[in-house]
Amino acid sequence: MKILDSIEKFAKTERAAVKCLGNELTYKELNENSDKIAKYLLEEFKSDRTPIIIYGNKENEILPIMIGALKSGRAYVPLDITFPEERVNQIIKEINPKVIFNFTQNNLKTHDALEINLDQLKDILKCEISNLSRDTWVKDDDNCYILFTSGSTGKPKGVQISKKNIDSFTQWFEKYLNFDESPNTILNQISYSFDVSVIPIYIGLGNGKTLFSLNKDTLEDLKELFNQLINSHIDCWVSTPALAEMCSKFDDFNDEKISDLTSFVFAGEVLTKKLIGELTKRFSKARIINGYGPTEATVLISAIDINKQMIESEKSIPIGYPIENCELSIIDKNGNKVKDGEKGELIVIGDSVSKGYLNNPEMTNKAFFKSADGKQGYKTGDLAYYEEGIIYYCGRKDFQIKLNGFRIEIEDIENNLRKVNNINNAVVFPVFNEEHKISHLTAFVVLNEENELSNLKKSILIKNELKKLIPSYMIPRNVKILKEFPLNTNGKIDRKKLMEAVK
Ligand code: AMP
Repeated sequence: MKILDSIEKFAKTERAAVKCLGNELTYKELNENSDKIAKYLLEEFKSDRTPIIIYGNKENEILPIMIGALKSGRAYVPLDITFPEERVNQIIKEINPKVIFNFTQNNLKTHDALEINLDQLKDILKCEISNLSRDTWVKDDDNCYILFTSGSTGKPKGVQISKKNIDSFTQWFEKYLNFDESPNTILNQISYSFDVSVIPIYIGLGNGKTLFSLNKDTLEDLKELFNQLINSHIDCWVSTPALAEMCSKFDDFNDEKISDLTSFVFAGEVLTKKLIGELTKRFSKARIINGYGPTEATVLISAIDINKQMIESEKSIPIGYPIENCELSIIDKNGNKVKDGEKGELIVIGDSVSKGYLNNPEMTNKAFFKSADGKQGYKTGDLAYYEEGIIYYCGRKDFQIKLNGFRIEIEDIENNLRKVNNINNAVVFPVFNEEHKISHLTAFVVLNEENELSNLKKSILIKNELKKLIPSYMIPRNVKILKEFPLNTNGKIDRKKLMEAVK
């Protein structure tokens, strides 16, 4: 596997593989430590290849564990510190792991797994390394990682990504980026629980780059974030548009201060002309790439370099040309391909497509399919159209949204709200700003029983309880208490009427 070969190759140099808060891990250390972890996993758990869980944030120790898992033929499941306890426990139950690397202070609920903290990891890393055989490395359809995304039933779905899927994505995208093995630095900001982080990990480490990690604390302190960025020497920026939007509120975000930066890779949500305008003013020579793709088809399945013509055009910014090794088509309601310029659902067929959701045949059968020639396909749920070989995105078919780069199923929030004490029913809406981007969420709830508390108090209590069930980025900003929901003529909740109230 390219990333593993590359780590071995650069282990013979002095190159840094990852830097976080001034701490550095070299390729040599990454190689040796991942060998030790692979050896430990193989000796401790023998042929049992249940995925391992890594619970933390951006600690430098996480990468050797991921790589060690791959070298021992196991998949890893990264869980970010920001996930609420309930969701973490749900995922642990789903995976039923033999081992959990827990770098947080959080106590995990009952599970049968061996839990390893940072101190215990140090003991594992004290062992001698003997030559490891490549025979144990992940192969072909073996899973490399499983990422959990918001699920409409209120239960997250585990997307399984194999070596074959990753090879399909990286072979295309590293060529698209013109990456060579020069010692550049790439931004490693996206949480490991989201698949855009696969770009720095697999394409960065696969080409000898240094990953510049920004952890949760840094991201919460803008002054510190800028201090670090200015001294980072990053050449390639990888993020959702949301982070760049936040940075462009500051004058220092420009090519005088962050002088090595030559390319921006955006993915995960709509890239607006406003942000592109800001960036072209501040980084006049930088390449700006809009990448598009769902986790289920491995990070990105289309990409495009933004040019002046696209900014000046009436049309929205395109999501680009399709990935080389897959087929991307637009289909109508009957599953037939539509003509150029006609809108429909975007589907993808080929080696990038995941085998499906872990232990979830029902959801897998809904979204995945086999093509006539037996290849794996995925219905993205995204509406799009083709024009002159370029794809344009036109929103979703369902209630999935992106808020600040995070993928959220509205029904996931509603289902969890219904679990909150005294809530009878709930409806959640995205609220849009003038640029037609979602700025926040509003929930309407009806209670089982009235009480003496003010509406403000009630809404604070509801939000606090909800925080225990779902990640904080999914919590609606406003929770409005209603006596009852307005109903339409069919007797269903009149969403249109409620929506009027959030405008
Ligand atoms: P995720 O699985 O978190 O990467 O989210 C995938 C979804 O994000 C896609 O199905 C789209 O709805 C949306 N998305 C990803 N990239 C873009 C983009 N460049 N422009 C618009 N929407 C995007």
